[in-house]
Amino acid sequence: MKAPDNPVLVIGAGPAGLQAAKDVAEFGVPVLLVERRKELGGAPIRWSYHTLAPDFRPTEEVMGPLIDFCQSNKNVTVMKGCIVDGYSGRPGDFHVRIKDETTKNITEKVVSSIIVATGFEHFDARVDPRYGYGRMPNVIGINELEIMLKQGRVVGHDGKPPKRVAFIFCVGSRDRSTNPWCCTVCCGVSIKQGIEVKQLLPDSQVYMIYMDIRTIGLWEKLYWESMEKYGINFIRGRVGEVYYTGEKLLVKGEDTLVRGPFEVLFDMVVLAVGIEPGPGTKQAAGALSLSLNEYGFLAPKIPNVHFDSGKEGIFLAGACVAPMSVEEALSEGSAAAMQAVKLGSRLMQKVPV
Ligand SMILES: Cc1cc2nc3c(=O)[nH]c(=O)nc-3n(C[C@H](O)[C@H](O)[C@H](O)COP(=O)(O)OP(=O)(O)OC[C@H]3O[C@@H](n4cnc5c(N)ncnc54)[C@H](O)[C@@H]3O)c2cc1C
Repeated sequence: MKAPDNPVLVIGAGPAGLQAAKDVAEFGVPVLLVERRKELGGAPIRWSYHTLAPDFRPTEEVMGPLIDFCQSNKNVTVMKGCIVDGYSGRPGDFHVRIKDETTKNITEKVVSSIIVATGFEHFDARVDPRYGYGRMPNVIGINELEIMLKQGRVVGHDGKPPKRVAFIFCVGSRDRSTNPWCCTVCCGVSIKQGIEVKQLLPDSQVYMIYMDIRTIGLWEKLYWESMEKYGINFIRGRVGEVYYTGEKLLVKGEDTLVRGPFEVLFDMVVLAVGIEPGPGTKQAAGALSLSLNEYGFLAPKIPNVHFDSGKEGIFLAGACVAPMSVEEALSEGSAAAMQAVKLGSRLMQKVPV
């Protein structure tokens, strides 16, 4: 079978977009990969994730081969620092306008189909003043702790390693005053990080302050291991406020198991910030006239068939549709790639789409 001449356009080069680009290219179909940032790899590379939950695999081990493939394979053309500005046409013959964000130059390309994989942003914890993020020293996000773990150096603002560390779950998740949805990965990521803190600082005390533990599927092993092997403590509760005493962080809240208030001093507070749709997804939705749901994620035509945007020839993949893990984003990239190749093949054979 002859491969279609017009490339498949993939927007976003995170786990979902890179996997989609690789799978399409391996079918012998050309790919145009458009990424708005100057580097490929999406959130795991941008935020320097140290290892990936649930298996503690170094991020480079997962992302490196995908990035290398897309940068070196002859079927993949990469355009960095660019966005898609608009389109016209129909499946097999979409005309897209690609804008260089620095020079503002516009390039027009003809593509056969489009995969949107524009991902997510971290919740900005400054939006919720209860936690003191951005105002108090040693209150950090899990994304910032991930960078410290990668550097092999977890320290407070005074350069000293913390003796007592609290993780506060569901910051900007499952909270109707900010984001009502569950970010799905932050329980597991926090527990993974707690274990890594204990490996680095065995004498430290680590507390997880949680609403429910949502280490779904095989991620649950992190939960048992953290308690049984590393002695990590779990408090089921809600945090009312974090105060800075001038030396320590006082975390005040309610223990929802024993139904009483708690006040505990910590050296470092780590906020498990959630996943929310970013401006990149809004931009792509505008350019391609795609629907967003009430939360700002891209809305598939049928809720449990994520790849189907409801527009012929435009497919969706990854965290631009819903919060998800890397393993799910990779699978969604593959699923969207299959749809794009299937469409190309039907167009080649002149089978009605
Ligand atoms: C703190 C934290 C830690 C995590 N750790 C883990 C973990 O240990 N294990 C795990 O499985 N999952 C983890 N996750 C989840 C993981 O980050 C996501 O599952 C994954 O990044 C989703 O991949 P994606 O390709 O859909 O989106 P992203 O990684 O967000 O990639 C999207 C890409 O699209 C680009 N883009 C956006 N808009 C546009 C546009 N308009 N035009 C062009 N390009 C655009 C972005 O620049 C980005 O490169 C973590 C999440 C958080 C918040």
